[in-house]
Amino acid sequence: MPAFVVEDGDPYEPGAVIVFAPSDIVARRKAASQLDHDEIGGLSCRRLKWADEYEEAKAVPATAMLAHGWQLTCCGCEQLIYDGGVVARYDENGEEYEEDVDPVGTQHSCYCTAACQKRDEDEQARRKRGERRFWNALAREAMCKLPGITIEPEKTEGVWSGHHHRYFGAHSKSGRDRALCFVVRFTFPGSKYGGSYRYDLGYEATKGERQILIANGDMAAWEAFRDNSTPTHTDKSEGAKP
Ligand SMILES: [Zn+2]
Repeated sequence: MPAFVVEDGDPYEPGAVIVFAPSDIVARRKAASQLDHDEIGGLSCRRLKWADEYEEAKAVPATAMLAHGWQLTCCGCEQLIYDGGVVARYDENGEEYEEDVDPVGTQHSCYCTAACQKRDEDEQARRKRGERRFWNALAREAMCKLPGITIEPEKTEGVWSGHHHRYFGAHSKSGRDRALCFVVRFTFPGSKYGGSYRYDLGYEATKGERQILIANGDMAAWEAFRDNSTPTHTDKSEGAKP
């Protein structure tokens, strides 16, 4: 299939993608979803012969795009790479200077240098480890504080809402990586919808405190469960609190 370049012509945030497609119209459709366009109207499309040779690899190397005048954004430092491989940097006084770089990657994901890619991948791996560790600790804590609950099994689909949540990243105040927002979903005997054990650093009401939320339709079942599991628990007026 030949290569096409499809551009959205947005005056404020122009976007362009290279796609491989059997025809102009299919190229527009493919590009519309990549450019987040609802429809193909307003997109311009033309053949991009020099990119044909990359069809088999399904990706155009960043170096080839730069050599043909494209500008790319580094996925690591988020700096613009232009003029075939130049990035603007800032010295300790805030003075801008240009640096020649050796970009790596493809149209799908590129970095200004191999070192920038390594740094970014290391950081992501560190965050993944942080996510796993903190979530496991929070789940253990929930089971300890609320004996009898069952942590919901891991879902792989439809996880965008109503499921476990792990968010470990740069804290806005300190700039350091830390646990930002975590949700451990659980069920308990008699529950229909279940509840969640939460930690949220950004949420004013909790500020990193642990919080237990029970689905509305499950409040009565929760109170019955807590009364049974904690015989010394006497203060019913506290509702959802353990
Ligand atoms: Zn970079």
